[in-house]
Amino acid sequence: MTDWKLSRRIAALAPSSTTAAGKKAKALAASGVDVVDFSIGEPDFPTPAFVGRAGARAIEAGRTKYTDVAGEAALRDAVATKYAREQGAVVSRENVIVTAGAKQAVFNVCQAVFDEGDSVALFSPYWVSFPEMIRLTGAVPAFVPTEIANGWPPTAAALERHAPRDARGVVLNSPNNPTGAVVSEAELSRIVDWCAARSAWLVYDETYDRFLYDGRRHASAAAQRSRYDRIAVTGAASKTWAMTGWRLGWVLGPAPLVTAIASYQSHTTSNASSISQAAALEALTDIESTSAAVAGMLARYTERRRLMVEGLSAIEGIRCSSPEGAFYAFADVSALYPRKGVAGSAAFCDRLLAEAHVAAVPGDAFGDDACVRFSFATDEARIREGVRRIAAWAPR
Ligand code: PMP
Repeated sequence: MTDWKLSRRIAALAPSSTTAAGKKAKALAASGVDVVDFSIGEPDFPTPAFVGRAGARAIEAGRTKYTDVAGEAALRDAVATKYAREQGAVVSRENVIVTAGAKQAVFNVCQAVFDEGDSVALFSPYWVSFPEMIRLTGAVPAFVPTEIANGWPPTAAALERHAPRDARGVVLNSPNNPTGAVVSEAELSRIVDWCAARSAWLVYDETYDRFLYDGRRHASAAAQRSRYDRIAVTGAASKTWAMTGWRLGWVLGPAPLVTAIASYQSHTTSNASSISQAAALEALTDIESTSAAVAGMLARYTERRRLMVEGLSAIEGIRCSSPEGAFYAFADVSALYPRKGVAGSAAFCDRLLAEAHVAAVPGDAFGDDACVRFSFATDEARIREGVRRIAAWAPR
């Protein structure tokens, strides 16, 4: 076998298992099998037409060239205005850098603030990419467990109990992928205090900030900036406007952090797509159309959440709480492992796909091998069919 001499950094990297699960499902479907795919972490809705048209207009107008590395001034202003309007944050263009999605936003923040050997506290279960992003800086993730019993809430008390005293940062995601847990304003405030006590960075990923259920209000760390400034908020157009393919996100943070990330980006990816920036500008500034589009999607997700959670909970051996936000059900299926002769979530998902033709993502990718993530960003009929298949397969 050829020794490719890949870097130690890359050789140690685990590929994203959400992407891997999706690939397996697509491969089986391509062979002619009717697969119900609950592995996908993206909205099935089309990008709202008013946003798509703005992208098309940008192409027609020839806005197809490099922009400022940090993003078009008007878009940076629009992102700052969003946080001023929704969170009362005192921010301006200098506090915003536009990125190619929230993924790049979090990655670049980590590169900018963590060093070799730093400890970074990460609430678990966590989104798959967080540990690798932390490790790629040379820092070490320190996992802080949250519990299924009361809906996996991230708390300052858990940080106090489980995080290293000298942590250089905390990574927090609300609403959480995969658990759907939402941090309350009071708890977020205590977490900010915990960070402030040791001058640690708070990296706050709010990719799902518009998708909270039962009238819950999103608590943004942007609102805490007046108390403490080592806060980096990452967001994206990806979920709010069903724009995953457009690759458009941002970081909101102190101006020196934004300058540092712009410098890093100037040597790596440069600006996010000029066309996507034009579309995102329309999305962020046409508030009325956005409210209507988001309300429509939220109503559908609400019904899908009910179908998924009620359906899974009715199956003996599956424990599933109702997520407070995002569009995933993170269910404890470990009581079924002995019956299925499997030792963990990866083998469980393999059997579920092979025998029931339902795709889901193993919980071990998110730090909890007892669980499996079922995405309900898929239409209601498919959710009913998928749940029916799992219910028929589980007892066998
Ligand atoms: N953060 C979280 C918590 C996510 O779930 C995702 C997408 N799955 C991202 C960031 C990445 O979003 P984007 O597509 O905007 O890069």
